[in-house]
This record gives sequence, structure tokens and C-alpha cells, in this order.
Amino acid sequence: MSRVGVFVCHCGENIARNVKVQEVVESSRDIPGAVVTADYPYLCSAPGQQMVIDAIEEHDLDRVVVAACSPQLHEPTFRAAAAQAGLNPHLCEMANIREHCSWVHRDTEQASAKAYQTVVAAVERVKRSRPLDPIEVPVTKRALVGKDAAAPAWGFSNRYEMPNDFLRLAFIRDQSDNTPYEVVGNFVETDLSSPLAVKYVWDDPDVTRYDPILTTVVALSLALDLVEPLTQSNTKKEKIETALTFWLGKAANVNGSERRPGKVKDTSWLVARARGG
Ligand code: SF4
Repeated sequence: MSRVGVFVCHCGENIARNVKVQEVVESSRDIPGAVVTADYPYLCSAPGQQMVIDAIEEHDLDRVVVAACSPQLHEPTFRAAAAQAGLNPHLCEMANIREHCSWVHRDTEQASAKAYQTVVAAVERVKRSRPLDPIEVPVTKRALVGKDAAAPAWGFSNRYEMPNDFLRLAFIRDQSDNTPYEVVGNFVETDLSSPLAVKYVWDDPDVTRYDPILTTVVALSLALDLVEPLTQSNTKKEKIETALTFWLGKAANVNGSERRPGKVKDTSWLVARARGG
């Protein structure tokens, strides 16, 4: 059985104004596996982090849930604190009860109930987490590329053939920082003069180091082909289709970074948003 510590942050009034922190703490005591529950005014402060570290050591915790703000803000903080106490950092999860509960709900009862459910979900998630160790994968290379003898048929004055192991352009070192370019097959077309200083993702023949988006898309594509004949389940097929659409979107975002984005025109809607209107 996991030994989970649940720490609930007030964030001053940011959380405590709309979420009944004490009630969340008390209810959390009944979550299976939650052996320590506590609250603190500002958990990301040095004493707040120390409280988490001390609790891990004192109660021999093997999992931690911090119910506070967005993980985007402080997940690294609390994972570092967990690591300081000897815990694998990936056994620390955050439950976002500030942005997802306090800041978006006015009804205290409902915000508190949602905060509790968010904590329950985080505890269940962390109970299933496995320790992970970071790996470092060098995926980019730098090169100085000479101009191709042939110019593009139209649009740009120069084209540069990328190295044989070129997969994707990461960036071009461009002093003016706004010269347009376009990736066309294995060429980069631009008005920049030779040599072109590029950083690119290279074709690594070691399959264990492939781009995770690529491996995910390939796996989902195979699953989509096989799910119906193997399971006759439309529900499973729809789930895989949804996941594949999501990851293809991510891949498209990456592909989109190969071309400098065009400037968005200031429509009345954008102007109103910028002014907070
Ligand atoms: S951990 Fe997040 S929610 Fe808590 S005090 Fe710091 S910023 Fe606020």
C-alpha cells in the first residue's frame, strides 16, 4: 500500500477565499493511502517546502500530492523538494485547486467539493505513478551549409541543401532575426547569403532515440488499423481516433515551426482582447 502525503496550500487568500481548505484536508484523511494530510499558507515558500521534506522523511512517505496552483508554475519546485527528501521526483503530483477551483468558481461549496475531487484524483494518479529517471538525448546538430547552384524558381533568391541526415529545421542563425525562409523537401529557401548557419534535428538510426511524437503517432496508427478486426469495438476505435487526431495536431505544430509564422493582422477582435475589452 502506498504512503501518500497530501499537502493543501492556501496561497494566502487565492485559494482559501473560495475553497474551504480545512475541509479538504480533513476529507482527504479518508482517501485510501493518504497517511499524512496538512495545509500551509504558502507551500512554495522555503518553510512550506521544508514542511513537505520533513513529512516525507518523518512518515516514510513514498508519494506526495501538493494541492495548490498550476503544475506549470510550481511542479518543478515540489519535485525538487521531493528529490531532496530522497523521493523520485516523478512520485510527486500536483492538484490544481487554485486555477481550476478557486479562481473559476464563486460558489464556495462547489469549489471546495471540486477541490476535494481534484485531490482524490491526484492521489489515485500518484499511486499509479512509477519512478522515472531522466535521459539526455542529443537530437540536434549544427551545420554551415553552402548555397546550391540552382536558385528557387520563384519566391527566394537562394536555396541550401540540408545535410543527408536532415530531418527537421530547428532554427537558422540569422542576424536580422526576421528574414523569411521556407523548408522545401531537403532544401531551405531564403534570401540569406551563404553560408547558412543551421541547427537541425538529425536522422538518428538508433530507434530507441526516436522523437516521442513520431513513435506515438506510429503506434496509434497501427492500433487504429488493428483495433476493429481484433476487438470489434467501435468505442475503442473512437478513442484511438481521438488520440491520433490529438498527436497529429502536435506533430503539425512541430512541422509548422519550420516556417516563420506570418504576422497576424490586428482585427477589431484582437485589438479588443489586447485592451481587455
Ligand atoms: S504553491 Fe502555488 S498556490 Fe501555493 S502559495 Fe505558492 S503559488 Fe500559491
